[in-house]
Amino acid sequence: MIKRSFIGLAKPRLEYELLEDIQPELVRVPTAKKVTLFLDSPFDPYIKRENDLLKIGDKVKTGQKLQLTGDSGAYVISTVTGTISSITSFISDLGRKQTAISIEAATEEAIDETFANQSKQPGIKNLLAFLEGAPGNPNLKFFSGTEKTIGTIAILGADKDLLPVTNQYFVKSKTDAIKSGIRVLKELTGVANIVIVVPQSLMQAAGATGVQVKVVDSQYPAALPLMVMKDVLGQVVPAGKTCEDLGVCFLSAEAVASIGSAYESGQLPISKTFTLIKKDGGKILVSARIGTSVKDVFDACNIAVKDNDRIIFGGIMTGSSAYSEELPVKSDTDAIIIQDSEEIPLTTDYPCINCGDCIRICPANMPVNMLVRLLEASQYEEAVDNYDLDSCVECGLCSYVCVSRIPIFQYIRMAKKELARIKTAEATNE
Ligand code: SF4
Ligand code: SF4
Repeated sequence: MIKRSFIGLAKPRLEYELLEDIQPELVRVPTAKKVTLFLDSPFDPYIKRENDLLKIGDKVKTGQKLQLTGDSGAYVISTVTGTISSITSFISDLGRKQTAISIEAATEEAIDETFANQSKQPGIKNLLAFLEGAPGNPNLKFFSGTEKTIGTIAILGADKDLLPVTNQYFVKSKTDAIKSGIRVLKELTGVANIVIVVPQSLMQAAGATGVQVKVVDSQYPAALPLMVMKDVLGQVVPAGKTCEDLGVCFLSAEAVASIGSAYESGQLPISKTFTLIKKDGGKILVSARIGTSVKDVFDACNIAVKDNDRIIFGGIMTGSSAYSEELPVKSDTDAIIIQDSEEIPLTTDYPCINCGDCIRICPANMPVNMLVRLLEASQYEEAVDNYDLDSCVECGLCSYVCVSRIPIFQYIRMAKKELARIKTAEATNE
């Protein structure tokens, strides 16, 4: 819910949507004829590898682990039974190189039993080997032993962006699965300190999970992990550092429920739940197999899309526009928004007029008006050195209030991504 201030100098008050305000039923999208899965590893069709594990025409089962090569760590779990119809290179919205694997679904479903057979074995190996891309996209790499030392797991039972209610749904409706996930995580990671962070309205439901419950404020951007660290867990993450650097790993309520149900049933979860926000602002909860195209989701929900309507993956403040209805639901898709072409607020190339609205609203107290000048000129390192780019918590509020409609948040994400790329390139050359 967005309450704009009518007194010019006051900040607009942006209240998170609550689950109790929307239709609670879950719409299940039928299994699609084709799914597309993304492997977080680049693909070059012109390189012939001796030990390729995947090729066009291969038959795969539901729950089967797919890897390009045996020595590649990246994997994805097949969400249908069928035949691989294409393997192509894909560039994600911020330029990350991935591999897109399309699978034509068969009419008969067969379940791969590898996880079921191995899940009873002790140790964390199977958790890491099968559940990294589970619905809710758990950050399991931090438990591999080679990454940072984690002392606290914070389960996010609130939703990071304004309009989705996906995590709240899991706290309310899948408490037993979350409880199982907590038991598995304690046993396999050895992390004893687990807390769940929820809106006030879900305190009772969260209490049933058996871990300490913390309440997050109802005003955006309180549920962003960096804000939860400061305001709920009492730890300020220094600029340029991450929550994991301070020993805290955030997992969504859905991710923990996915882990719990996988170990309870011996079957890997394959469907992602998300909040679908329609053109009229109405919201429904939808469950679709990971890899289902947005078009199939819209068809199942009777939503018509016309030219120039905008599709957004993620929330209204921090989501990314999609250029095609063929793009699939992914393991981290918490929301899909469809905006009517006539309702889309356009960005402009108007200059900054120094109104100061972005500075007043920025929760990190950054000089956003100065920062944006450097970002527009692609002077990213200067933006870090002179205007504290690393302190940005990526809430998108500056873009929301900018009277010149400068896409400030998009500039910030692009800058951070480019700086990370430069850092990785420098580390590789060393
Ligand atoms: S996205 Fe904008 S408002 Fe939010 S912390 Fe970053 S600079 Fe500040
Ligand atoms: S809100 Fe936009 S126009 Fe106003 S100071 Fe910030 S960048 Fe400039």
